[in-house]
Amino acid sequence: MNTTKINNQNSMHNVNDQITLIGAGLVGSLLAVVLAKYGLKVKLIEKRPDMRIETISAGRSINLAISTRGIKALDLIGMKKTILDQAIPMYTRAIHDLEGSINMQPYGINDNYYINSISRNVLNKALLDKCGESSLIETKFNQHIESIDFKNKKITCHDVTLNQTFEDPYKVLMACDGANSQIRNFYNYSPHFRQSIDKLDYGYKEFTISPNPDGSFRLAKNALHIWPRGNFMLIALPNMEGTFTATLFLPYEGEISFNELNSRIKVDTFFKSYFNDTLNLIENLTDAFLTSPTGHMVTVKCQPWNISNEALLLGDAAHGIIPFYGQGMNCGFEDVSFIDKLLGNGNLDSINLNTIFNNFFEERKPNCDAISDMAYDNFIEMRDKVRDPKFLFFKIIEAELEKKFKGEYFSRYSLVSFSNVPYSFAKLMGEINYNILNELAGNLNDNKEVDFALAAKLIKIKCKPLFEPYLADLANLVNDNPYGY
Ligand SMILES: Cc1cc2nc3c(=O)[nH]c(=O)nc-3n(C[C@H](O)[C@H](O)[C@H](O)COP(=O)(O)OP(=O)(O)OC[C@H]3O[C@@H](n4cnc5c(N)ncnc54)[C@H](O)[C@@H]3O)c2cc1C
Repeated sequence: MNTTKINNQNSMHNVNDQITLIGAGLVGSLLAVVLAKYGLKVKLIEKRPDMRIETISAGRSINLAISTRGIKALDLIGMKKTILDQAIPMYTRAIHDLEGSINMQPYGINDNYYINSISRNVLNKALLDKCGESSLIETKFNQHIESIDFKNKKITCHDVTLNQTFEDPYKVLMACDGANSQIRNFYNYSPHFRQSIDKLDYGYKEFTISPNPDGSFRLAKNALHIWPRGNFMLIALPNMEGTFTATLFLPYEGEISFNELNSRIKVDTFFKSYFNDTLNLIENLTDAFLTSPTGHMVTVKCQPWNISNEALLLGDAAHGIIPFYGQGMNCGFEDVSFIDKLLGNGNLDSINLNTIFNNFFEERKPNCDAISDMAYDNFIEMRDKVRDPKFLFFKIIEAELEKKFKGEYFSRYSLVSFSNVPYSFAKLMGEINYNILNELAGNLNDNKEVDFALAAKLIKIKCKPLFEPYLADLANLVNDNPYGY
């Protein structure tokens, strides 16, 4: 393998310098493989034990929805098929109302459009295995980075197994240590650094829906199930072994909240009143509720993500978002695709990290801000709007527009989940689409009355010209093949 040189501002460092990469979670382990693909040496440092050897909890959501952006990044390292083979396609939202009726809301115009439920542990382990295949990646588990001295380019690391703390010099640091990043906190030494960490006033608890005695699924397998209840909601994603992981999102405070649901009787009454159809699905539901930990969710915004050519934040460490668009990991994986693109564009004999880190921040920041905003919109949509007749009416018309004007009209959801257009463009198109829908149907109650000649005109004027710069990113979606098979 060629040894690549890293151009560290004015001085050249041989790649033997090694990139120190902190966090072997989803984004860090994928990034390590991509860096190694370009001949770069990586020291990957993870505070937890090796999950392939020791059983450790997923930490948060047991399973995740992976869609086009995430799959594209996995394809860069030849893992698209391996992962899709271990995932369950979800073609539709299954909305459970209070009376127990279920309304299916497909994700797209046909069964080519689905998102994929994958186990967090399965995905992370597969990525760690891939790291293990490269002689350029040295992975260190049980090593907790406690602090960084940016001035003297040293990290302080605690070896959890040996119970010893030591200092380690570094040349280039990349940090994928998650939304609660310790590395990010050390950026505060710079007077230019800004960060905000907003804790959502909702928490979540996870429960398991067991399979039927014959191993079959107890709910429709290929769906993301949602029980929207206005101020709170329950969702469930399928797992390969026939279970579902159900997640209850509830405010911390208020009339119906984690704080209030503090006794068996209150919890029983709550589930009977709002989720009666789940009572026989989740074993010992009340005990599970009272004993399981409550997870919290944060939105992280900070800038800049890089310290010249020396350090870079990626994934949740740079842009943690709330999980309601199912895009946090997908967005982090898209970070890695972007690094791949920048490395691929460069002269591999001399990689200029200053330019790469700057370009990465400039390009990704507005897009990560956009998906952060859209994740919040979707939070409102999932817990509440999916019950609003006007919202549902617009959704029906939007589905018709996507069918009738295939390749010319795309919903925001399709652009986010099934294409690779920049998130900021998807957000803009969502606003334009809403205006079109309002003009077409704001005063209607029956979709048969929609004026499709006017729709054609509006789409031609308002959408088509804007898509021109993104035809490559849209190609698979235009061809009705979002995963590029
Ligand atoms: C309830 C919930 C549901 C979600 N659902 C989805 C979904 O459906 N789809 C989706 O795309 N995203 C989803 N997400 C978001 C997704 O989980 C994150 O975006 C993703 O995990 C970010 O990956 P990461 O590698 O940046 O961070 P993490 O996964 O948090 O990994 C960080 C790693 O760094 C290690 N680490 C931390 N600190 C140190 C240290 N000081 N020293 C050494 N190592 C350290 C950690 O042990 C960990 O391994 C969800 C999130 C939540 C909370």
